[in-house]
Amino acid sequence: MVVVGGGAAGIIAAWRAHSLGAPLVLLEKTDRLGTKILISGGGKCNVTHAGPVESVLKAFKREEAVFLRPSFYRFPPTEIVQMLADRGLQLYTRDDGRMFPLDADAKDVVACLSHYLTGVDVRMETPVTGIEPGRGVWIGETLLETDHVVLCVGGSSFPKTGTTGDGYAWARSLGHQVVPVRAALAPVEFEGVLSDPNAGVSLRDVLLRARQSGKVIDKWRGDVLFTHRGLSGPAVLGITRSVAEEWDKGPVDLEVDLAPDTPFETLQTDLATWKQHNPNAKLAHALEEFVPSKLVARLLDSAHIHPETSAQRLAKKEANKLVETLKSWRLGRVSKVLFDKGEVVAGGVSLDEVDPKTMRSQKIGGLYLAGEILDIAGPVGGYNLQAAWSTGYVAGESAAQDWLATRV
Ligand SMILES: Cc1cc2nc3c(=O)[nH]c(=O)nc-3n(C[C@H](O)[C@H](O)[C@H](O)COP(=O)(O)OP(=O)(O)OC[C@H]3O[C@@H](n4cnc5c(N)ncnc54)[C@H](O)[C@@H]3O)c2cc1C
Repeated sequence: MVVVGGGAAGIIAAWRAHSLGAPLVLLEKTDRLGTKILISGGGKCNVTHAGPVESVLKAFKREEAVFLRPSFYRFPPTEIVQMLADRGLQLYTRDDGRMFPLDADAKDVVACLSHYLTGVDVRMETPVTGIEPGRGVWIGETLLETDHVVLCVGGSSFPKTGTTGDGYAWARSLGHQVVPVRAALAPVEFEGVLSDPNAGVSLRDVLLRARQSGKVIDKWRGDVLFTHRGLSGPAVLGITRSVAEEWDKGPVDLEVDLAPDTPFETLQTDLATWKQHNPNAKLAHALEEFVPSKLVARLLDSAHIHPETSAQRLAKKEANKLVETLKSWRLGRVSKVLFDKGEVVAGGVSLDEVDPKTMRSQKIGGLYLAGEILDIAGPVGGYNLQAAWSTGYVAGESAAQDWLATRV
């Protein structure tokens, strides 16, 4: 059998099939395994998410969770943790449930997983150019004969990592429906911003909201990073799928709540008390509690307040406007969601045509699909790699079992 794509799903699929005794070839387009794992989590690799399977599944959209449930139970987060631990790579869990290597990074994860492929015929720099059901896979002019193909070629963001969306075209030509691919977990650019002087500055643990015609279409709590032309950071990645989905219905504005745990009225009272006790204090200094000093002038400008204003000179109307700004500071209107720089893409091979218990194509015999090629896009947090590990495991297992069954 042949596994196409040596990323997260392909490595696990190949290992599982090999462990069951199926002879196989793993074909990878780039010159190394796990090219995308290497850049994951900023090079640290957020391997998975801790917690019971049901709570991990909750992070996905309902129909995605329904599809993933059987494979998540078959190969839950604890399994990948164990696989790595068995080879000496321990993970630790952050407060938010995200699991990272302890004293190690993404390249150690790839090295560790590569050990599991000992004995597998792995061929790098071998781009597959076509799939012919029942006959094999094409590598240029050469046909590698096989009647069992596991397709793990990923999505189409970060094309330099080898993922150029090859699988979508093959799946379509084989009769599969491919849900249109859109950006998810991607940075955004703003209208009229070409070189933001605050690029590189971050807002910590804020609530980011995306609004369209005044209505909140999504929100996400986390850090926000100013870039030269817009925003990035976990909270931004968290809302971009919705932004990309709603895009054609009208412009989308982004705003942040800088004090998400403090109600509007409490902020008003706090500000009034502060004014009373510090009549000569500069408002600008007090605002450093909410934003980095570099952003104070910008925040005050948004609230139409002079940067030198002192507590005693702050009029009631201005105080109200300031609290309003702290609770919903408009950062800009989205002009672009950077598809290529997305951690994943939403869309892909329709889940209706793949058996979630086996990852078999319901259109083509001998074809199995796993990982990001499927119409799945979880949030930031180790969920997407987990989806690749679990679906890869199941795809490799059923392809091997089917292959072995034809040989008895
Ligand atoms: C910058 C970044 C950071 C990320 N961080 C995280 C994170 O910390 N945690 C997390 O859970 N997720 C993260 N993700 C998402 C995660 O990396 C992907 O969801 C996951 O790698 C998908 O696994 P996959 O095996 O389906 O695809 P991939 O890992 O993309 O692997 C697909 C492989 O197929 C190969 N291929 C493609 N076409 C062909 C062909 N024609 N012939 C042969 N081989 C081919 C590619 O070269 C590639 O190696 C991140 C993604 C990015 C881009």
